[in-house]
Amino acid sequence: MEITDVQAIPLAHSLPDGEGLGDARGFGTDRGTTLVRLETDDGTVGWGEAFAPGPMATATIETMFADDVVGMDPFEVESLAENSYTDPYHFGGDVVVQSAVSAIDVACWDIIGKSVGRPAHRLLGGTRCEKLTPYASTMYFTEADRPIEEPIRDAVEEGFTAAKIKIGADPESDAERVRTAREILGDDADLMVDMNGNYRPHQAVKSARAIEEYDVTWIEEPVPPENASGYRELRGKIDIPIAAGEAHYGRFEFKELIDDRTVDIVQPNLGRCGGLSEARLIAGMASTENVAVRPHIWNSAVGMAAAVQFAASISNYPHTRNVPEPMLIEFDRSENPMRSELLETPFDPAGGTIDVPQEPGLGIEIDQDALERYRAD
Ligand SMILES: [Mg+2]
Repeated sequence: MEITDVQAIPLAHSLPDGEGLGDARGFGTDRGTTLVRLETDDGTVGWGEAFAPGPMATATIETMFADDVVGMDPFEVESLAENSYTDPYHFGGDVVVQSAVSAIDVACWDIIGKSVGRPAHRLLGGTRCEKLTPYASTMYFTEADRPIEEPIRDAVEEGFTAAKIKIGADPESDAERVRTAREILGDDADLMVDMNGNYRPHQAVKSARAIEEYDVTWIEEPVPPENASGYRELRGKIDIPIAAGEAHYGRFEFKELIDDRTVDIVQPNLGRCGGLSEARLIAGMASTENVAVRPHIWNSAVGMAAAVQFAASISNYPHTRNVPEPMLIEFDRSENPMRSELLETPFDPAGGTIDVPQEPGLGIEIDQDALERYRAD
């Protein structure tokens, strides 16, 4: 089997002026990402996503990868990530390069699954897994003035039994936001908070203490991703588990988070971390330090499908069935038609679970009309 065609397809969507949303660091209205479509000599098509804006990802894929990928056997997928560190030497750790690798890698796994008739999570060695627990990623900071409780009420009405909310503007408002979310979600729900790296360590500690009474499952990115010493400092000062990884790319950066259990949860994004091959290595490293793995997802439906397959493949070591811990999967509730419209059968969080596609590869069909609607080339 041989890859005969590589296409990079940029997608974009904008929210109306004044309707921007975001986190403690600011608002945004524009979202862009890049799909990769591979085709083989027997006509099998595979999809992947580079979670990077079209102009950057497209140029990287076309100039650095396309020539080598054409002619490649997709079963040699695991050579991609390793070659990315050695072949475009000095560029390997770059976020756009790792995003490009992620897209091609995931598309190869999609093809492999289709050619052997198995879903990707089974190819990755996971046991049979049919359902995951989605958590609503919500309560964004909004440009327009909105009641803070509105989005969390919507999430509960949609059937979510877990949620992650944005905090990180100041410890006092953090406490108010977390209290509001906890009241609406109920005592038993998993509630996570995301500071998006907006604090210095001492501010993160102050906020963590202000929200401690609300039984928070994890604090995400309390300090900037670049602040490795900040993460190490927080370990001894915060009793709430710490999560990070959406802004880390490739095995070497994840090793820094995992070593000595610098964080409790790592969150590779399947459109940036190096793909399913690299995510599997990251999960293996995480298991050696008893660090949990919960993928970050703010992608299109293709990146989400990759993350669902990956999450379904992860071992729950060291837990036995006597320690129930749901495999939480991020389900962004901000408006993003590239997530909600791109698949013939969209992921459905109703009832507090999502089905893991059992069809071969990623188990998805692209809605070609939707693809054309959001194409940005
Ligand atoms: Mg986050």
